[in-house]
Amino acid sequence: MESVRRVVVVGASVAGVAAATGLRSAGFDGEVVLVGDEEHAPYDRPPLSKQLLCGTSEVADIGLASAKALPSASVVQRLGRRATALDIEHRTVELDRREELPFDGIVVATGSVARQLPGLPEGRGIHVLRTLDDAVALRTDLVGARSVVVIGAGFIGLEVACSARSLGLDVTVVESASAPLARVLGADIGARFTDLHRAHGVDVRCGVGVAGVRVVDDRLRSVDLDDGTSLAADVAVVGIGALPATDWLSTSGLKLSDGLVCDELLRAAPGIYAAGDVARWVHPLFGSIRVEHWMTAVEHARGAARNLVAELNEDPGSAAPMAQIPYFWSDQYGVKVQMAGWVDGYDEAAEVDLHQPGAGVLLGREGRLVGALGWSAPAFVARQKRLIAGRASLTEAVDSEAQQPKIKEGAAS
Ligand SMILES: Cc1cc2nc3c(=O)[nH]c(=O)nc-3n(C[C@H](O)[C@H](O)[C@H](O)COP(=O)(O)OP(=O)(O)OC[C@H]3O[C@@H](n4cnc5c(N)ncnc54)[C@H](O)[C@@H]3O)c2cc1C
Repeated sequence: MESVRRVVVVGASVAGVAAATGLRSAGFDGEVVLVGDEEHAPYDRPPLSKQLLCGTSEVADIGLASAKALPSASVVQRLGRRATALDIEHRTVELDRREELPFDGIVVATGSVARQLPGLPEGRGIHVLRTLDDAVALRTDLVGARSVVVIGAGFIGLEVACSARSLGLDVTVVESASAPLARVLGADIGARFTDLHRAHGVDVRCGVGVAGVRVVDDRLRSVDLDDGTSLAADVAVVGIGALPATDWLSTSGLKLSDGLVCDELLRAAPGIYAAGDVARWVHPLFGSIRVEHWMTAVEHARGAARNLVAELNEDPGSAAPMAQIPYFWSDQYGVKVQMAGWVDGYDEAAEVDLHQPGAGVLLGREGRLVGALGWSAPAFVARQKRLIAGRASLTEAVDSEAQQPKIKEGAAS
């Protein structure tokens, strides 16, 4: 008699949950075990910097909707348990408390962790924002605070700034690059975010680093900059990016290089797949990339589950490369910022007249369309996402927008 096969999914967030249910959709009828080191039931991360921080949502509102399907998919949930090692040869995942979990297949969905600023003392008022616990602690400190310094003007830092403004706090954003988001989007596009935040009363300071902080009696007093300025602060939020959560794989023998290295199928080794923020994979259009976007985590998970089941069933024809175009959104002061594509190293930007409310920029590399960035222009981003997938040139993309019908301001839904 054939023994029951088991797939272990490590990481119980958006990618892990979608992978666990995706295994069932792909026809896997063995045991599915979902291991996650957080005690909370799976929850959604995007509201942490938006609604939860502003107080328009509560913890109970941000449960991951997809997790409701876990019981009917007969997924065994092992929450509050950490995977500590992976033994490829013996096909086991080691969990804390010395438990070993044998597997036939595994999906690694351990996401990423917030980067810390080296040398920052532990003390009340200094925060990162990655987890629900981080968000609750930050929210608690924001209530009753007067001034906040956000260190790092990436998307999460900018959203924190926006949420803190909505709470009526004085907010300063400090960014060592020449503009917010400049490393990805360049200084010109980054300057638009400076304008947006300044228009809402945020003090945005670019091209300056943090020299240290002053903590007195276990309370933050100031953030000190390397130009000699001292910014009074009750709360500081470090938003300087994230690192893939691969520590637990360090002895596995799998290739780690800013993520778990996978092929086009999201496969790191036989029977071992990755999904979400932790995965570095070969995108058919953009090469080796790692993406920290919610939608990519879901698409990865479905793809990794399908490809793993294809491998377990010895049915390679059912596997397919992960070719979806990365897509990201951010909400700031009522503006929905959306980005499609992969724009690292773009060499040309074309502002387009959208003929309708909102604003959009197209980005190209060596003449090819690689990205579209929209400010409250969802139809534009959706159209251009399709053109990116179709390998359109930048010229074709610009022309396609010129042919769009004109919609009067206020007439678009
Ligand atoms: C504050 C915030 C706001 C965001 N806003 C947006 C947005 O507006 N738009 C957007 O597109 N994206 C947004 N993102 C990014 C998006 O949330 C991530 O891309 C997405 O959460 C990635 O999902 P994931 O499942 O791969 O990883 P994660 O969500 O990081 O989950 C990984 C899970 O694995 C667990 N884990 C890690 N190591 C282990 C281990 N060894 N054993 C067991 N469990 C482990 C972690 O604790 C975690 O629960 C935001 C992220 C944050 C932090």
